[in-house]
Amino acid sequence: MSHTTSPLPASSSGLSYVHPTPTSPWGTYLSQVDRVIPYLGPLARWAETLKHPKRTLIVDIPIEMDDGTVRHFEGYRVQHNLSRGPGKGGVRYHPAVTLEEVMALAAWMTIKNAAVNLPYGGAKGGIRVDPKQLSMKELEKLTRRYTSEIGIIIGPQQDIPAPDVNTNAQIMAWMMDTYSMNVGATATGVVTGKPIHLGGSLGRVKATGRGVFVTGREAARRLGLNLDGARVAVQGFGNVGSAAAELFAGAGAKIVAVQDHTGTIVNAQGFDMHDLMATLHRDGGVGAFTGGERIDPEDFWSVDCDILIPAALEGQITPARANRIKARLVLEGANGPTLPEADDVLAERGILVVPDVICNAGGVTVSYFEWVQDFSSFFWTEDEINLRLDKIMVDALKKIWETADRLKVSLRTATFAVACERILMARQERGLYP
Ligand code: NAD
Repeated sequence: MSHTTSPLPASSSGLSYVHPTPTSPWGTYLSQVDRVIPYLGPLARWAETLKHPKRTLIVDIPIEMDDGTVRHFEGYRVQHNLSRGPGKGGVRYHPAVTLEEVMALAAWMTIKNAAVNLPYGGAKGGIRVDPKQLSMKELEKLTRRYTSEIGIIIGPQQDIPAPDVNTNAQIMAWMMDTYSMNVGATATGVVTGKPIHLGGSLGRVKATGRGVFVTGREAARRLGLNLDGARVAVQGFGNVGSAAAELFAGAGAKIVAVQDHTGTIVNAQGFDMHDLMATLHRDGGVGAFTGGERIDPEDFWSVDCDILIPAALEGQITPARANRIKARLVLEGANGPTLPEADDVLAERGILVVPDVICNAGGVTVSYFEWVQDFSSFFWTEDEINLRLDKIMVDALKKIWETADRLKVSLRTATFAVACERILMARQERGLYP
């Protein structure tokens, strides 16, 4: 994450506590907002609100390590916008987490939740830590102390965390338990992505990948690209990337390239998905997979494929990489994987991008189902969940596509236009307090 003094995006909000650059996550988000302002009509009057996170909380997390030493970790929870409902967004554990990154991720949640019309604002959290270096006991202590520290702003009606990079159902269970102990009652609705027997929802684990598949299927249909036999390359083979790859493979596509933090593997004939998943479960990565050839990570970007799914971290598709991509369709499973200048390169080259703010909204949509089920204490079948998810994603994408055609803009700007209209209308109708 760069914190240099290079030029700010055109209309930086001038916050004193971050120093965005044109390629940093918050800088990328600000550019995306600037691109939609001309299409907001009279609501543009309220657009500045999108550049000011409502609340940013930085917490110190001291824990006693297994060897008896005490270490301090820095954690964050950002509530970007609460105009349409409680905050909603995941928690990331990663050594590169910064306040600025969490702000951008929270802002993208505001846009995403509005784009699929969920009754939520946007929030995100994170801890700067490499969880792979911690024992389970240390990870539990870290999670519990973090939850207590951010407990002053989260809650089933205030702000509802969920899993993100390097966090999972077990971490959500510890968060739920810690919050519940602090308030003196079992509060299942305080987090989503929990284990099934603790109020979790069927279908949640694979929901983000499923949403990537559904939006990809619809986009491919519009492009006249047959999924049966289509070649797919996936960067990031965690929760999102692996679930999406399995669904594409199930529809007849060939997964021809995969990259994660342990390596990059290609096979033009398509991988045996069963063997690939077995390697992932055994090693926690794909680097040692023998069903393909290992290549230089940078060559991943020029692999022959029809569909490219970035499902790792932000800022991966730079202008230089965008010039090498051979796919016709990019499905943004990750949040913020494409830099604004790279977006322009892809558009000039006629490569269609389904942006993160709709493409990966399947996870938060099923998180919403989980929250609703927890409140009503009535649980749905997996088929019901997948059907409802499919319909919400298809309907949301249809409206965004119509908006893109009407305004003659990219799907990203169209998604921002649909979402910002809902957010800023809520802002206007609520008025300013006091
Ligand atoms: P995860 O921790 O399950 O997987 C992350 C993957 O990225 C791993 O395969 C890891 O090896 C890979 N990775 C990390 N650094 C890399 C690098 N430098 N190069 C290549 N690969 C690298 O995380 P996830 O939940 O699958 O999240 C992935 C992305 O999807 C993130 O951008 C996240 O914000 C986004 N997302 C996740 C969800 C969700 O429900 N989990 C929802 C919406 C968006």
